[in-house]
Amino acid sequence: APSAASPLLAHLNDEQLAAVTLPAGHALILAGAGSGKTRVLTTRIAWLLQNGYATPGGILAVTFTNKAAKEMVARLSAMLPVNVRGMWIGTFHGLCNRLLRAHHKAAGLPQSFQILDTQDQLSAIKRLCKQHNVDEERFPPKQLSYFIASCKEEGMRPGDVPTHDSDSRKKVEIYQLYEEQCQREGVVDFGELMLRSYELLRDNDPIREHYQRRFQHILVDEFQDTNKLQYAWLKQLAGNDVGGRYEARGSVIAVGDDDQSIYAFRGARVGNMTDFVREFDVQRQIKLEQNYRSYSNILDSANHLISHNSRRLGKNLRTTQGAGEPVRVYEASSDLAEAQWMVDEIKQLVRNDGFERKEIAVLYRSNAQSRVIESALFNASVPYRVYGGLRFFERAEIKHALAYLRLLENPHDDTSFTRVVNFPPRGIGARSIEVLQDAARAAGCSLHDAVSAVPGKAGANLGAFVAMVDVLREQTQGLNLRGIIEQMLESTGLVEHFRTEKEGADRIENLQELVNAAESFVTQEGFGRDAVALPLDEHGTPLIQSVQSPVSQGLDPNAPVLDEPLKPAVPGIVDADTGETLSPLAAFLTHAALEAGDNQAQAGQDAVQLMTVHASKGLEFDCVFIGGMEEGLFPHENSASDRDGLEEERRLMYVAITRARKRLYLSHSQTRMLHGQTRYNIKSRFFDELPEAALKWITPKQQGFGSYAPSFATHSGAGSAYGSSARGQFGFKSETFASPPVPAQKAAPSHGLRAGIAVFHTKFGEGKVLAIEGTGDDARAQVNFPRHGTKWLALSVAKLTVVE
Ligand code: ATP
Ligand code: MG
Repeated sequence: APSAASPLLAHLNDEQLAAVTLPAGHALILAGAGSGKTRVLTTRIAWLLQNGYATPGGILAVTFTNKAAKEMVARLSAMLPVNVRGMWIGTFHGLCNRLLRAHHKAAGLPQSFQILDTQDQLSAIKRLCKQHNVDEERFPPKQLSYFIASCKEEGMRPGDVPTHDSDSRKKVEIYQLYEEQCQREGVVDFGELMLRSYELLRDNDPIREHYQRRFQHILVDEFQDTNKLQYAWLKQLAGNDVGGRYEARGSVIAVGDDDQSIYAFRGARVGNMTDFVREFDVQRQIKLEQNYRSYSNILDSANHLISHNSRRLGKNLRTTQGAGEPVRVYEASSDLAEAQWMVDEIKQLVRNDGFERKEIAVLYRSNAQSRVIESALFNASVPYRVYGGLRFFERAEIKHALAYLRLLENPHDDTSFTRVVNFPPRGIGARSIEVLQDAARAAGCSLHDAVSAVPGKAGANLGAFVAMVDVLREQTQGLNLRGIIEQMLESTGLVEHFRTEKEGADRIENLQELVNAAESFVTQEGFGRDAVALPLDEHGTPLIQSVQSPVSQGLDPNAPVLDEPLKPAVPGIVDADTGETLSPLAAFLTHAALEAGDNQAQAGQDAVQLMTVHASKGLEFDCVFIGGMEEGLFPHENSASDRDGLEEERRLMYVAITRARKRLYLSHSQTRMLHGQTRYNIKSRFFDELPEAALKWITPKQQGFGSYAPSFATHSGAGSAYGSSARGQFGFKSETFASPPVPAQKAAPSHGLRAGIAVFHTKFGEGKVLAIEGTGDDARAQVNFPRHGTKWLALSVAKLTVVE
């Protein structure tokens, strides 16, 4: 009989102990967040091994993410000396891959088959459509790829798909052709990994029986989010359906929480839990009711919230930890103010309360929200990492958009040219591009200039592309940054292109977010007074002629000139780093490149974690921020209208809250730039579903509306008394604008710099201050950077932090 004397079991509570030491047989562990489900799974594996009930080879454990799998393996090897390589622990895709590699012949694949990611899959489909003259208007490749993925998720090959008209027959025909193409090229997409390995087990008795005998213990975490095919796959491994009766060999332990089912939109079926109990004739169900993760203010909030859902399997959660800090709720005037508040809090958590940055997570409902937060962290030089998703400026659609913008600035940027010459698709194939590249190489010119050297249809298509960009360049002359980007999104067909894609809505949101990014770049960066704010006369000539530095520009014609004298009367801005006069567009592009490349936290560096709520499942952090708690955003407007949608949103919120161990912060904002426009938001209904006693409402001491965009008019009388912090990062910080656009009176800023001090610059790295000049807005520092030489930096623009 198991005993708690074993150190492995020492800290488990009674229900956990029972779950870890279950005798052979199937079981369902249904329990709320933070109750130790994942820990129980891991400990059970260790316990089985330690007591000789299983060998490493006899265990198969499915986790939800690669990260979870790695963590499980790490914990196991810490608990006992095992051959972790012998164990099958991984995600569904990871395990399928392993199975198919091992049995590639039986599966009909070359051993070295390649895996197509979603992007590759799409290009493969496009190529195929072209070869077979498929009308892409009628059958957009993106829809085809979605169609194929859904068929595979349902376990259907082309022959199994019901057809009712010529369109559906055509789609099935393309599915068939796509399969043949993949087979010929030896590639599999994600859906294929799953389906192919399911079929391998189903159709090969010896192989199936081998694994059924082998895997005596199958353990599945996050079972509530498995889909139909995954469940079918598990059943193949577990046993045989013999004339309606299910004969399982090993033991299957499924662990889940119906309240955390958040992938219905991808085919996840909570119903798998009840099916499992029925089909496997599960005799043992264990509930874990003690939460070990969170203080009770946090847990009460989660429990209270989820109690508003109607269809639940029913669980309780309690904690013996104290109440802890109240859940702090913050109301911001704008999304920028919200982000700035987060950054200020994060700095305090690190500096005053001793939290590690990696123990702080910022969660958001929608990917597009990350950009403002990233920007605030970036400006404050706080290392961060975007987890389970790309950082804003690294996302494919953003890179495409930036590539177009780069071409507007520089038609000879061959990298950008190559990136978008056929995106959105315009019938320019890889071969045409090769011809073009050869021509350019021979003539020693850019791709842009070599276009006329390419003959035939390809040449014509290339010519049309170049002409489109050239026209766009002319059209956007004199437009402000926002106008340029909007025009670009429109003329290039980027937005239109993503309209037809399955996950296109997200990408369009991101593209619109780029407009916001540009907008706030203009108003925040101290580059501020560009074509947007700079008053122009009717000919587009700037009324102020002495545009010389970001500091003096548009402010005071007599302000001292930075660095070298710059080209006057340019309605542009100055790169404070290089002293170059840049167009707003070029400056923005520089900023984008910097932000994409430089501040990415190094591997292993202590960094704040940014992720969507979806990506946070199963993880835990000391401190959690949940931003954008507004109607339409969280709950999301797409889901709030029907009950199922709203309940799924509530489960998402439940997941988000229960990630926090010690501190939880919720925030909402009165205004938000989203989807390309300012929205006035009311706070999320979820606030009404939280227990008032657990919350503490903190409101900013002073709030200013519209304060993040001090317009040109505000500067007229303010002169240099206009403090630098009022327009430092966001321009709203602690200053109050009685009514815009009158700026606050502010004393000279204390930048805390003096000669001899060591500073850090986000681009140039560490350096030493040699001299300081000027005050207020005009303050500048001469800094020597070991790798970049000596530079004069405008303190209201350059982000210098003192190195302690
Ligand atoms: P989720 O639903 O979010 O996936 P979970 O049920 O899988 O949560 P775990 O992540 O396994 O929960 O555990 C939550 C936290 O509680 C972990 O830090 C874990 O180490 C801790 N914990 C679990 N059980 C105990 C225990 N008996 N004693 C002390 N700490 C425990
Ligand atoms: Mg877990």
